[in-house]
Amino acid sequence: MRVTNPRDVLTHAARCAHENRGQREGCGTRADPAFLAQNRAAPRKTAMPDHHAACSCGQLSLVAHGDPIRISMCHCLACQRRTGSTYGAQARFPREDVEIVGESTEYVRIGDHGDAAHFHFCPRCGATVYYWTDDGSAIAVPVGAFADPGFPPPRVSVWEVRRHPWVSVPDGAQRRE
Ligand SMILES: [Zn+2]
Ligand SMILES: [Zn+2]
Repeated sequence: MRVTNPRDVLTHAARCAHENRGQREGCGTRADPAFLAQNRAAPRKTAMPDHHAACSCGQLSLVAHGDPIRISMCHCLACQRRTGSTYGAQARFPREDVEIVGESTEYVRIGDHGDAAHFHFCPRCGATVYYWTDDGSAIAVPVGAFADPGFPPPRVSVWEVRRHPWVSVPDGAQRRE
């Protein structure tokens, strides 16, 4: 199912939380604040880190539970225009591990191969906080939205042919033309 707006993500997270409430594993236990509050005194060994992202003004925010499944940097010209920077860096999480709060405006960008990317930005300050491509099974978050210099570096670098020559790529990252 395609996610069409942030409420769908919230609805999915809430439903998932209800169904999985009380289980040791799964996104439900992590998505349910009441369950987490009850168990705060005895953290589980399986507890995953939370990553908080927000727009410039704070109206639109999200929490991603657990580690990203992919961290990449993209040097394509469309990402340069979107970010206003010389490349985009983004972390992808399973959709069910992401809780979104706030209103967003969607911009759909059609790529060279006809694929659509759905960008969601704050209507007040304009910062993109998340987007998805393909079937929407993963939510991509611009790494800068975490405002966390300790966030892990990209492991994949794509559209190297468009890379500004002074932009460096982390050691060991997979590089694609
Ligand atoms: Zn904002
Ligand atoms: Zn790109």
